[in-house]
Amino acid sequence: MEFKLSGQHQMMQKLFREFCQKEIAPYAAENDVKAVFPTEIIRKLGAQGFMGIPIPAEYGGAGADFLTYILCVEEVSRACASTGVILAVHTSVGTFPILNFGTAEQKQKYVPKLAAGEYVGAFALTEPDAGSDASALRTLAKKDGDDYVLNGTKIFISNGGHAQVYTVFATVDRALGAKGITAFLVEKDTPGFRVGAIEKKMGLNADVTTELIFEDCRIPASQRLGKEGEGFKIAMSLLDGGRIGIGAQGLGIAQAAFDEALKYAQSREQFNQPIFNFQAIAFKLAEMATQIAAARLLVYQAAFRKENGLPNGKQASMAKMFATDTAMAAATEAVQILGGYGYSREYPVERLMRDAKITQIYEGTNQIQRLVIAKALEKGL
Ligand SMILES: Cc1cc2nc3c(=O)[nH]c(=O)nc-3n(C[C@H](O)[C@H](O)[C@H](O)COP(=O)(O)OP(=O)(O)OC[C@H]3O[C@@H](n4cnc5c(N)ncnc54)[C@H](O)[C@@H]3O)c2cc1C
Repeated sequence: MEFKLSGQHQMMQKLFREFCQKEIAPYAAENDVKAVFPTEIIRKLGAQGFMGIPIPAEYGGAGADFLTYILCVEEVSRACASTGVILAVHTSVGTFPILNFGTAEQKQKYVPKLAAGEYVGAFALTEPDAGSDASALRTLAKKDGDDYVLNGTKIFISNGGHAQVYTVFATVDRALGAKGITAFLVEKDTPGFRVGAIEKKMGLNADVTTELIFEDCRIPASQRLGKEGEGFKIAMSLLDGGRIGIGAQGLGIAQAAFDEALKYAQSREQFNQPIFNFQAIAFKLAEMATQIAAARLLVYQAAFRKENGLPNGKQASMAKMFATDTAMAAATEAVQILGGYGYSREYPVERLMRDAKITQIYEGTNQIQRLVIAKALEKGL
């Protein structure tokens, strides 16, 4: 049993870290305040090949393994959590649906552009009345000759308005529940499809999150992903991989919070000594470091299992839940360690605390992760 990354993984981790600290971290605070999508940074990620890390070379990707991709999400999120989720959504639930479930034509049409970062991907499942219970979605896809006509509204869609292709889940028959859900690939400029309101959020401001509105939006059957009624299965299988990505995002946020807190505790003096000398502060850092180390093992283990075709649903949920709870705890403690400065925008920890919160909510809330883990335990998995 090996408890260290391979030489190749270590080399890639170093490369990601150097790139992200130089090209992404300096802009994170400004992009948060201005709430702007980091188009130029995404272009640079594309130029480096980071938008297609786990995509096979035949589709223009880097052909690297899933763990390499996870290391990238971690480092990008450590520099800027918003950019981290743009990358994670684009890859895990924006590109993989087409790669895993698309026809040869769909793959040729979209995957090379997505892998190059020329296109950004998005995943549209959530609706105003269908969040954790995604099977309750109402967006209707009515068959009309060789087309489907979509009507409905999606909310909270990451990369909304900035993605060129959206994997959209709609039902062909509301009476069928999950069995009616079908996936479609919808391009940005399709008539009848428009981006609605931009969500005003607590954090993660540089990842624009929007409504998507479908009004008599005609989609040719050639844009259906998988068979009719397979959509729910497709969505759930994608979320397993997606959750490992969000675990990596949590890990990156937690590490950034810890780095800031340690640096501050060693340099800030009160009562004529560094505050690190106070056991109350040092113990917080000891706990943060321990939780981050445990989260890292869970996230990397889940990635390893996915890459090697081992069952990974339970492990993905454990990794997502633990790493994102760790992100929230570490960011909150970092604010406490920095005292009043922690609450100020002068330091990044208040942003990290706001950004950390969402990781416990999306890609399945952490209550839903506990549900998934409990179901796996019940089945003896
Ligand atoms: C910034 C952001 C980005 C997002 N990006 C996307 C995206 O790109 N694509 C997309 O499709 N969606 C996206 N979402 C939606 C996100 O996945 C949902 O918000 C999330 O799944 C929760 O759904 P909900 O908000 O409707 O909460 P609800 O499902 O209404 O849950 C409310 C509360 O009840 C709890 N709860 C619900 N059911 C149970 C249960 N069975 N047992 C115990 N507790 C339960 C939840 O844990 C939560 O605490 C995004 C959301 C945000 C805020």
